[in-house]
Amino acid sequence: MEFNDDASLDTSQVQDARGSGGVGGRVALGGGGLGIVGVLIYFVLSQLGGVPANIPLSTGDVGAGQSVDNTDLQNECRTGRDANTKPDCARVAIINSIQAYWADEFARSGSTYQPADTTFFRGGVNTACGSASSDVGPFYCPADQGIYVDLTFFEELKTRFGAQGGTFAEAYVLAHEYGHHVQNLLGTSSRVGRETGPTSGSVRLELQADCYAGVWANHATTTAGPGGQPLIKNITQDDINRAVDVAERIGDDFIQENLGGGQVDESKFSHGSSAQREKWFLAGINTGQPTQCDTFAARDLG
Ligand SMILES: [Zn+2]
Repeated sequence: MEFNDDASLDTSQVQDARGSGGVGGRVALGGGGLGIVGVLIYFVLSQLGGVPANIPLSTGDVGAGQSVDNTDLQNECRTGRDANTKPDCARVAIINSIQAYWADEFARSGSTYQPADTTFFRGGVNTACGSASSDVGPFYCPADQGIYVDLTFFEELKTRFGAQGGTFAEAYVLAHEYGHHVQNLLGTSSRVGRETGPTSGSVRLELQADCYAGVWANHATTTAGPGGQPLIKNITQDDINRAVDVAERIGDDFIQENLGGGQVDESKFSHGSSAQREKWFLAGINTGQPTQCDTFAARDLG
C-alpha cells in the first residue's frame, strides 16, 4: 500500500506511551478487553501454565506510571510522504484513515462518530479494563474507549505466527480494533457475553470486527483524511493477500494447533476459525457495506 505524499497526518489520534517503561506484566484482560488475538493468547498461556486463571481486574490504578510523549511523532509524522518511509507514521496515517471513514459512515446514517485514540505502549499498560502485558496482543478497552498496541506484536506476527507481515497487514489489525470501537458505539458489544464456542456471541463479535476492517479497506482510497485529501493512494492484491494471511494465522483453530496444545477444541473458540476470519474480512472488503457484516443474523458463519 502507498500513501499520498501530500496528505496531512494527525498525530493527536495516537498516544505514544512507549517511553514510559511500561507497567507490571499482569495479564488482566479477562473482562472488557477485546483483542485481535488477546483472549486466545491468554488461553494459550493459561494452558501452558504461565498465567493463573481468574486474575481480578485492577481498575484503581488506571494510567498509573504511564506518561505520553508525542514529540517524536509530531516531529516525524507530518505527511503521507513520512508515512511512506517510516512505519510509525504509516500507523498514524492508517488510524487517521480508519477514523475518517467511520466518521463519514456515521454521518451518512445520521449519527456522530466519537473518535478513539490508539496508545502505543511497550511491555505493559494500565487501562480502565485493567492492566495488560504485551502477551495479550493489540486490544480495545470499551471502558475507556481506547485501543492499545505494543508495536512489537507486528514483529511477533512474523516470528511467532509465521505471517508475511507488511503495512496493510498491520492496517487490518488496527482496523479490526477500531471495528470493536464501532461495535461499542453502536451498542453491539454489550449484547455479547463471555461464552465461547463456534457460534458464540464472542465469535460473532470478532468476525464482525474483521468484516468492519474490510469495509474500511474498501473505502480507504476514497476517504478524505484530516487535510481533506485521501491518505491512502492504493491497496494492491498483494496487500490484501498479506492481510488475509494474518487473518488465517490468528484464527482459533490455527492458534490452537500451532501455538497451543495442538488439539482443536471448538468449544474454546472466541474469535472464529481461520476460514471464517478470512471470509468475513473479505465480505467487508468486497462489499464496502457495514450492513453486510451482520454476523449475528448469519445462520452460517462460514
Ligand atoms: Zn477482536
